[in-house]
This record gives sequence, structure tokens and C-alpha cells, in this order.
Amino acid sequence: MLFTGTRSRNAVESAFAIASGLAADGGLFVPQDFPVISTAEFETMKEMDYCRRAETVLAKYLTDYSAGEIKYCVQGAYKGTFDNDLPAPLTDIGSNRKVLELWHGPTCAFKDLALQLLPYLLTTALKKLNTGRQAVILVATSGDTGKAALAGFAGVKDTQIVVFYPRDGVSDMQKLQMTTQPGNNVTVCAIAGNFDDAQNGVKAIFTDGEMKDFLHQNNMEFSSANSINFGRLVPQIVYYVSAYCDLLKDGSLRPGEKFNVVVPTGNFGNILAAVYAKKMGVPISRFICASNRNNVLTDFIRTGIYDRNRQFYTTESPSMDILISSNLERMLHLLADGNCEVVSGLMAELKNTGKYQISGKMLEKLQQDFYGTWCDDEAGRAAIAAIFKERHYLCDTHTAVALAAGENYRRETGDDTLQVIASTASAYKFAPAVLQALTDAALPADDFEKLQLLSQISDTRIPEPLANLRGSEILHKECIAKEEMAGFIRRNLE
Ligand SMILES: *Cc1c(COP(=O)(O)O)cnc(C)c1O
Repeated sequence: MLFTGTRSRNAVESAFAIASGLAADGGLFVPQDFPVISTAEFETMKEMDYCRRAETVLAKYLTDYSAGEIKYCVQGAYKGTFDNDLPAPLTDIGSNRKVLELWHGPTCAFKDLALQLLPYLLTTALKKLNTGRQAVILVATSGDTGKAALAGFAGVKDTQIVVFYPRDGVSDMQKLQMTTQPGNNVTVCAIAGNFDDAQNGVKAIFTDGEMKDFLHQNNMEFSSANSINFGRLVPQIVYYVSAYCDLLKDGSLRPGEKFNVVVPTGNFGNILAAVYAKKMGVPISRFICASNRNNVLTDFIRTGIYDRNRQFYTTESPSMDILISSNLERMLHLLADGNCEVVSGLMAELKNTGKYQISGKMLEKLQQDFYGTWCDDEAGRAAIAAIFKERHYLCDTHTAVALAAGENYRRETGDDTLQVIASTASAYKFAPAVLQALTDAALPADDFEKLQLLSQISDTRIPEPLANLRGSEILHKECIAKEEMAGFIRRNLE
């Protein structure tokens, strides 16, 4: 299996793609073709546990890793790090809907699924490539990636991790999770700007020749833990494959019977992984792309025009407050049948004008599979209240956007096919907004008392990783302008 860039046809092996994160021309690595899982293989896989399923999927993409290396990576990532060793359980919530709970890991958000595994994949790749250089992981985060990457990389030999987050664009709990992170290889810094500023800053640093020279002089090399790294994407394909196996196993689906997925979307990584799972043979019918008020993707799916020149809103689902969805580039590459010139052209337009339009043919292809819809904070809160009232099921603000989107879809299309709804964070990570949806009572000022109140109201337990933050020392206090990011990295790595 080889990987090419979305903007050029150079083919590389997976270890190289994972170690470098981004192609040299700024494009994203994509598999040259998609390995397929046969009906018979699904029958075998449905009897496997999560780790074995993950090993099976990884082995099809990372053909330059040995079976032993893959096993070492998967077991290190998923054994003993998730509740009950079940990284991605399905919960039935009635009306032909199942929630795929992706928040049972060490930081209580779905990014753990990928970021517990990525450090293993990356350090193994570096060993294979034998460069002798340290990896510097640069992360721009809308909240959850930062902590999940810190949790994955803290203390990992031969790596440094630098995390930038938008000062006013993350929840209090997310900020606390990041600013209290210990470890002698970690740096955390706030940006006076929004997530797109942080992400653009990181992208610019990646492709900056002078920065590259500076790193090489210090025997270092940049890599990325953002979802532009293929090493982030492949673990996400696993949970869609695994969900299908679970549905086959419990009899919810017959072999080949189709289901829809609903994904609360920001950077388009999670939903793209579902698209890749379909390419491998998972029978997904429609991809319902759920957005919050930053509904640039809804407009794109409906019109074929991507236009980031619009008001940016800070919402109660901050991990989706994004106007430039990086992984959409991989989707464009699929829609353009692998035509790099088309993708390069669209990306250049996006960079220069903040806008592009895809061809009628590409749009038709997109709309065959995709449905775009969105909801605002008020509708999100209503969804949290409704599912709690009906099913006593507690969900966070991002999952709420997906629930509301799933209902919009059914109302607007009449299609009541089984929905698998990606649940991307624990409600406790966004306790203030969730509480406001569930009660009219005044909220306590203290963050941890809010968690306790939520625990009382919902009769569920506060996840340990969040409870343990209480009293942790704030270790990272710096905040810089977006123009200072490169200088900040030099100062900290020197
Ligand atoms: C990152 C994140 C999302 C968005 O996922 P993408 O892969 O960027 O589309 C949604 N919800 C939560 C809680 C997240 O952390």
C-alpha cells in the first residue's frame, strides 16, 4: 500500500506519511487505493475484540509495518487505557438510533481513539526510517485535540510536543486539562485569536523553509498530531468498522444491510474516516454531516460553494467552531477521482479568496452520499433535554448537534434507516452548557461543583480524569499573538 499527496503524485510508504504528517507541497497523504474487507472477513471480525479488529484494519494500510509492530502499537494504545477496555461501545437510544460512544478514553473525547495510538505509530515509523532525529509534534487545537495529544505524547522518548489553543475558544474544563499537563517534553501556549488562526499558523510553520533548517540544525523534525496526519485517520476508520461488526453480531443488521451515520463535524476528520470505512466495504448509506452555527459545510454540501468569508461564531460546541475543514481536501481528492491539479486549484482559490466552487459533477457525487444540516445552541440544548427526558441518556453539546441533525434529516427526507450517531465527548467536559439544558436552577460558580451537580442530576459518575484535575497546578500560562508563533517555537526548542 502506498500513499500519495492530494496535490502531487509522489508515492510514499505509510511510515513516511505518518512521520511527516503533511506532504512537502502542503497536500495531505491519501491511500492510493482502498483495501477491501469481504463479507466473509466481516463474519470473522465480528467475533474479535476491539484490538484484534484494529490490528486487522491497520495491517491493510500499514503494509510496511510488521504484524508484531502493529500488535505492539494497538495493544499499547487500547489495553488498560479505556473504560472496561471497550474503546467504542454502541448504546441503543430508541427510534432506530444507536450512539457510538467515543469518549471512554483518558481525556473523555473521541480524539483519544486516534491520539492514544498515534505516538506508537509515529515512534515506530521514526525507528523504521532511522533518521536519528527527534520528532517535534506541532498541534493547533480547538480544545480536545490538544489534551488528547498531550496525554498521548507526554513522556514519550524522542518526541517534543507543542500545543497552541485559541485563548477564548475552548471550554474552562478543556483549558484546565491542557494548562495542568505535566511532562518535560510538553509546551502549551494560548493564541490571541480563534482556531483557524492557530491552525493557519501551524500550517505556515510546517512549510516554512527557515524553520525546517533551524530544526535540522538541532537534529529535530516536525510532525503533526492534527487530523491531517494519516496516522490519525486510520484509527478512526477502525471504530466504524468495529461498530458495523457489533451491529452484525447483535443482529441489528444482516450482512450487507445499510445504515446511516451522523457525525458532529469540525475539521471533517471523523466523517471522512466513515467515508473511508465505506470504501473498505462497510455498508453505509448516507453520511449526515452535522454542523453548529458555523455551518460552512452545510452550505457546501447543499450548493457546492465553500465560502469561509463569513462571521465566525463561538458556540457551546467549541470543538466544531471551525471555518476551514482541513480534511475536506481528502474528500475533494476522492470527488475529483484523484485529480491532483483540480485539488491544488481549489486549495489555491481557498487560500487566495477564501472561497471555491466544485464542478457540477463533483457536487452530484457528493450529494449522492452526503446530507448537510446544522443546528444552533438552542436546538442543541433542546436535544440534550429531550434525550435525557425520554431515555435518561446524558449527552454532551457536540453529540447534541448530531442528534438534532439526525432528526432534521429524518424530518426532511423521511428516511428512517438505522442511524449510528457519533458521540464525541463526555457531557462532563461541557458541564455548564449541559446543566443549563437540564435545569433552571442557578449554577454553582466552581467548576468542580458543576460536575458534582451534573452527577447528581443525571445519576452518572464524574469521569476520573476530570475529577482528578481538581487542585492540579497550572503549569502553562503564556498567551501570544498569532504572528509570534514561529518565534515562540524557536525560543522553546533552542
Ligand atoms: C474534534 C471534535 C469534533 C470534530 O471532529 P472532526 O474530526 O474535526 O470533524 C467534534 N466533537 C468533539 C467533541 C471534538 O473533540
